[in-house]
Amino acid sequence: MPTLAKQANSLFNLTLTPTQSAAFDTYAALLAEWNTRMNLTAITDAEGIQTRHFLDSLSVTAAMPRTENLRLIDVGTGAGFPGLPLKIMFPDIQLTLLEATGKKLAFLREVCTQLNLSGVEFLHARAEEAGQLRDQRASYDVAVARAVARLPALLEYLLPLVKVGGYAIAMKGRTAHTEIEVAHRAMELLGGKLSTIVEVCLPDVDELHHLIVVEKIAHTPNLYPRKPGMPSSAPL
Ligand code: SAM
Repeated sequence: MPTLAKQANSLFNLTLTPTQSAAFDTYAALLAEWNTRMNLTAITDAEGIQTRHFLDSLSVTAAMPRTENLRLIDVGTGAGFPGLPLKIMFPDIQLTLLEATGKKLAFLREVCTQLNLSGVEFLHARAEEAGQLRDQRASYDVAVARAVARLPALLEYLLPLVKVGGYAIAMKGRTAHTEIEVAHRAMELLGGKLSTIVEVCLPDVDELHHLIVVEKIAHTPNLYPRKPGMPSSAPL
């Protein structure tokens, strides 16, 4: 299998330093170790972790603005995807890892300590609560998520957190286009506008991945996000 550095370079034109490559190795080792004690990922083989976690996370760079000190929140980050690989790649990102399950945050803290990553905030909350917090609401340049909810609910999680002029990025698989079809109303109500859809083809992965990029063009009404559970049980 080619190295992560080689693949990141050929797929996304990214250049990993030896220190960054070593950081990914440490992250993979911690993931394997903690996964024996708690359910962090179903993907446990080295190739799967490299492709489906690390490269897939790094694919977000194809849709992300590259301004300095970008404020980025990863909503429902789980074991850190896509937020932590992006932080390893671009250490100047001001990263918030938002996760509803406290145990997963303990893992994320350990990875950041071991990798000496600074400028990472850990937020133990539901997205519906975070979007109503004064210090979180409308404070990010980018809000990103993978495998958290269908697009109408996901936009209700992401867009309230984004500044006007910033972006929500939803990582989706084969359902991307059908999810967009049912998300137009949510997008409009929440102040978003579909900007672009980036196709991502990962090595040895049959399914095409998509980055759905939604620009925030207007303030989100205070009503949103609604109470925990509402965005998914009664999608806009
Ligand atoms: N994003 C990671 C990835 O792609 O590997 C984790 C995906 S996992 C399937 C979904 C994660 O989102 C879980 O860790 C879950 O606790 C979290 N989650 C689901 N709904 C959430 C919400 N409303 N607010 C915060 N976290 C949420």
